[in-house]
Amino acid sequence: MGVLVRDKKMEPGKILEIAEMGNPVLRERAAEVEDVLDPGVQSFIDDLIATGISANGVGIAAPQVEVPKRIFIISSRPNIRYPDAPLMGPEAVINPEIISYSDETVKDWEGCLSIPGIRGLVPRSRSVRVKYISRDGKVEEKEFSDFIARIFQHELDHLNGVLFLDRLESIRDIITDREYMKLLRRESE
Ligand code: ZN
Repeated sequence: MGVLVRDKKMEPGKILEIAEMGNPVLRERAAEVEDVLDPGVQSFIDDLIATGISANGVGIAAPQVEVPKRIFIISSRPNIRYPDAPLMGPEAVINPEIISYSDETVKDWEGCLSIPGIRGLVPRSRSVRVKYISRDGKVEEKEFSDFIARIFQHELDHLNGVLFLDRLESIRDIITDREYMKLLRRESE
């Protein structure tokens, strides 16, 4: 069921406008997707992928383009915003849930396309066991760790109206993008 023949080159996604902090859509609980195979949902996924890639995001959630639905994209690859990102995706994650969290948490830098110009040191579970529906309608159950687990937790927060700033332990854990880039350069020396 649900085999979709798609030609991505023939149907490039549209670049959508990204909502930024202060937009109320980022504070809503997004709604479940009822029919993943609906052509409108499928073309929206293409648009969300294209928008995330064009903004150098490693993940982007539907509310970030003012669509309050439970869909996000993981699209991790090294880029100018995240030089050390591993390769994964772009993969659409629909109606996600986290089944279990590791006891161990780690603090690491996160940025957000909806909060331009700053990064924060955010505590997250090191690994998570997750369940979601893929874009071809299959139920997936997987375990993610480290950077991908961090993306998953960050993007799932977006579906619940939570931003990474809400999770900081201290306002002092904020850094500007420029200082972050200097920090990376110092660390790689
Ligand atoms: Zn974000």
